[in-house]
Amino acid sequence: MFTNIHVLNYSNVTSNETIKKYMNNFTEYLNQQNIHEFSINYNDKLYYEEVIKIIDRLIVSEYLIHNLDLSLMLNNTNNEVFAIIGEELPTENQWGDATDFIAVISCTLEKNIWHEIAHLIGANDHYDNNTQKALDICMDENCIMQHGKDEGVFCNRVIDEIKKHLKNIDG
Ligand SMILES: [Zn+2]
Ligand SMILES: [Zn+2]
Repeated sequence: MFTNIHVLNYSNVTSNETIKKYMNNFTEYLNQQNIHEFSINYNDKLYYEEVIKIIDRLIVSEYLIHNLDLSLMLNNTNNEVFAIIGEELPTENQWGDATDFIAVISCTLEKNIWHEIAHLIGANDHYDNNTQKALDICMDENCIMQHGKDEGVFCNRVIDEIKKHLKNIDG
């Protein structure tokens, strides 16, 4: 399932150029792992106004995002996902909140942005929600799907999760 990732930068601190550099690195890295089934789009006019309306209206929290039919509002067909970036955005977690198709990212470190956007294309967290310790399935101590890792890359398990999602491969 080819996925369009819409990146909307609301930051007053982090420039569009910086975000683009991070996303170019992200794309290049995944392409090296033979993952090509996605594109990055910036400030897509088609959706921008809709997303502004949502952000303005809500105190963004995972609970609210899960419980509102944003898919309907955005006419989402599941291959359009949204990363909304800005240090000032209200989020439940200090680094940001993500669901299957929308991530609100308030920590703008490069690898945190990679982590949250990876959730939008099939990656799972590689840490235990209660203990915050790495899960046994994680294959690299520098995997950025672990808790609080702002340096590193994706472990092979994450690459498999993303491939399964984007290439529609079952289990
Ligand atoms: Zn996560
Ligand atoms: Zn991992």
